[in-house]
Amino acid sequence: MPHLPTWHADRMIVIGDAAHAPSPTSGQGASLSLEDAVALAKCLRDLRGIPAALTRFEALRRPRVERIVKQAAKINNAKAAGPIARFTRDAMLPYILPKVANSEETRRTYMYHIDWDTPVGATAP
Ligand SMILES: Cc1cc2nc3c(=O)[nH]c(=O)nc-3n(C[C@H](O)[C@H](O)[C@H](O)COP(=O)(O)OP(=O)(O)OC[C@H]3O[C@@H](n4cnc5c(N)ncnc54)[C@H](O)[C@@H]3O)c2cc1C
Repeated sequence: MPHLPTWHADRMIVIGDAAHAPSPTSGQGASLSLEDAVALAKCLRDLRGIPAALTRFEALRRPRVERIVKQAAKINNAKAAGPIARFTRDAMLPYILPKVANSEETRRTYMYHIDWDTPVGATAP
């Protein structure tokens, strides 16, 4: 998500993903949103006036969330294959996939079938 220069105006504020959605690969978005909720509640509890509380909230939270958003973007780039890795992957997969995709283990997992008409016996199997 693009950088959001302002999170609040008067008595309105955006928090969580609406303010600073990190890449899903970070595994941090929900945690940051929950932290926001607690931090915002504390600011509203402890500071006089809503605008002051919202300003303080943004100042408190921005450095942490922006560091994590940046870190997540970096991880994302590392997870995406580069041109050489893409070429090698695309050249190899047609040979590798038919072998691994049809293995005994794969078939046991993905081709599992329960026959509706067969009655269940009282004992195993
Ligand atoms: C594929 C994927 C994997 C993820 N994995 C992780 C993970 O492992 N760990 C982690 O911490 N985070 C993960 N996240 C991120 C996490 O889901 C989000 O960061 C988190 O849900 C953000 O919470 P939020 O409350 O800010 O926003 P949301 O969860 O998006 O909640 C916003 C809510 O507002 C509602 N809404 C929108 N517009 C209006 C409107 N006009 N009126 C009323 N309601 C409205 C929406 O329907 C929604 O229910 C993942 C995200 C994705 C997409």
